[in-house]
Amino acid sequence: MSRRTIQVDERLYDYLLEVSLREPPVLAKLREETAKHAFAGMQISPEQGQFMRLFVEVLGVRRALEVGVFTGYSSTSVALAMPPDGKLVACDVSDEFTQIARRYWKEAGVADKIELRLGPGVETLNALIASGASGTFDFAFVDADKENYVRYYEQCLKLVRVGGVIAFDNVLWDGRVADPSDLAESTMSIRALNDCIARDDRVFPSMLSIGDGLTLARRVK
Ligand code: CA
Repeated sequence: MSRRTIQVDERLYDYLLEVSLREPPVLAKLREETAKHAFAGMQISPEQGQFMRLFVEVLGVRRALEVGVFTGYSSTSVALAMPPDGKLVACDVSDEFTQIARRYWKEAGVADKIELRLGPGVETLNALIASGASGTFDFAFVDADKENYVRYYEQCLKLVRVGGVIAFDNVLWDGRVADPSDLAESTMSIRALNDCIARDDRVFPSMLSIGDGLTLARRVK
């Protein structure tokens, strides 16, 4: 028995996947293709994708925002869990990576639910705010350049409705956030986001040790 989150070794992780993973074939195929990619580590883990599918269904998400698409595992997961009239605005800087994503959106039958916006995330979110989209999103998932995490947080707080949830990936950063000697810009940026959310009464947060750490922050005011 344990009063804290247990350590998950390889054997236990394999067991977890074996008894709980229900990965649609299209997502399994996307995961296999992305595994060959030079930046394969940027993909979320399959059980995290499944958690997000469940979460999106439970929250009844109809309008979602994603910052950082990469090859599309999370966007495909989220879109699969949304109703047929659901809309996901997916933002990324890379035409190359999102070409893979677009192929899988089609294959998964969710291409009509997803609107891709290519360009720097901060600019895309500013454009959304300027276009009057504030308070219209039920859910936002941020998994992009860590240096802009605090900026994305403030922008998403505008774009997500009260009661909606902002999710941030990589908040545990392979443990580096808890190592005071790690002063890398990416580590400092994630630490800054974690500190910011910790003392922000506009949200109610929960930090999960799934994948590389996932914070859910529900906008409460
Ligand atoms: Ca990530």
